Amino acid sequence: MLNKGYRKNSMFSRSKVKPPALGMRPVKRHAGVVGSLETSTEGFSSFSCNALVKVEQNKILHDYDVRIKAGFDEIEPVVQQLVVQQKRPDFLKIAHTLIRDNLKLSLSNEQLTILSKDSFDSNAFYAECVFEQFMSMSDDFFRNDPLCGQNKAEAEALFKRLGFHAVGIAACSDGRLAHFSTYVLRLPYSFPRRKFHAGTLFDVSESVRNWVFIEHGRFREGVPNSADDPTKYLKIAVYHYSKSDPQHQGCAAHGSDEHKAAESALLKLNDFKQAIENRFGCGSTIQTLLIGINTDDDSLKIHVPNLYGKVCLQRFVETETLFLQTTGMSAEQARLKIRQSVDECGGRSHESMASMNSLVCWFIENNFSQIEYVRNYENGFYQDIGHAERFIGVGNGFEEVQLRNLSYYSFLNTVEEGLNDVNIGIKIFTGLNLSKGLPIPIIIRCDYDGKVPGSRDRAQEKALRIERALHERYQDLSRQGQLKTMCTLRDNTSHKPSERVLGLVE
Ligand SMILES: [Zn+2]
Repeated sequence: MLNKGYRKNSMFSRSKVKPPALGMRPVKRHAGVVGSLETSTEGFSSFSCNALVKVEQNKILHDYDVRIKAGFDEIEPVVQQLVVQQKRPDFLKIAHTLIRDNLKLSLSNEQLTILSKDSFDSNAFYAECVFEQFMSMSDDFFRNDPLCGQNKAEAEALFKRLGFHAVGIAACSDGRLAHFSTYVLRLPYSFPRRKFHAGTLFDVSESVRNWVFIEHGRFREGVPNSADDPTKYLKIAVYHYSKSDPQHQGCAAHGSDEHKAAESALLKLNDFKQAIENRFGCGSTIQTLLIGINTDDDSLKIHVPNLYGKVCLQRFVETETLFLQTTGMSAEQARLKIRQSVDECGGRSHESMASMNSLVCWFIENNFSQIEYVRNYENGFYQDIGHAERFIGVGNGFEEVQLRNLSYYSFLNTVEEGLNDVNIGIKIFTGLNLSKGLPIPIIIRCDYDGKVPGSRDRAQEKALRIERALHERYQDLSRQGQLKTMCTLRDNTSHKPSERVLGLVE
């Protein structure tokens, strides 16, 4: 169980999730989690003070969040029970029962025997359960699509109609932003390309390479649309802050300085656009958007671009303000109010910016549901306003991680290049796990292209290289059994779950 002495809002607090239905059964299918520009609020509006909130959708998202996090949070009590009972002759039987009943997992006899060979290795056992729980989550996510994120047709059509053929989102590695696409903006997970870097300091060259890949698809195959269509690529950078505790709960990479976090993200956006302009002479085909998120309640500051598509720090709309202003209005009145506010903020005389403004309005409307989500399920304010991640993820991919504070994720190809991000992750988990005598579980993920010969082998080599580098870099932790790693691969051209591969360690 959690240490009761933990302050509710301490830097490293982790909210305790009630374990109702722990089973990894699929969530009931529904019409689709993603909203649309014309989404009807019929049938839902009477349950919320704001007509644009999708109450039913919130329930589905919340049930999923509770179910998945409970699976991870129940591991610690199970470990504690087994530590106490490790000398019993029927230990293996007890362990099997506890794991099955409390975690809905089944470890093989072989796994359990290894973990309790000489004496019960609680660190190894804890990490193994985290890893198995992750694999179970991944399996459920890709096979059952509990958040209905595999169907991106509707979102894609909406974006295209508004003049955007693809969208890339760069956010901070902080686990409090991991749910940004699916929950905060209500986008299907398979639509935007997400990348996470500490402080939103994304790699501009890597972003340019990805952009080239997308544009090449348009030229050669007309996917997602023909290169002749006058649509743009949208690059969104997301920074974060905490309104209630701005000095401590903001972005660690920027010393909790909101202005610095926003400025750095904007600089990266401008560099990206400039790079495309300099290299390919078509910077005008890129639109940038800067969004700040208050991690206390998931409300947003959206920096509406001006008439010329330029983003600036001082020009923004706040979704919380708009949420309050539109409360009690009809859906139609509320949409009109949002539109007026966005147009006043950014201007609309140019047709292309009118489309941008429409997209911003849609984001705001979607974010209203998330604001209501936090109000309804968290009393308007997350109990775990600080870090409460359950594991560290490094590498690339991790589409199945769509939940707030589930994982601290760092996109990297080598530990050297992502060292700053990993160091921050280790620091966070020193407070979260080591301080409680729990090891730091790190899941390594390398995605591969199943259509490219040899791609899987190269991904596996990369995963093992990252694993080795982690254990070398954090030797002391590794030697003491406090750093546990698991290597996984996934074919990102399919909806297959991740696959565990034998690591170098253990
Ligand atoms: Zn951050």
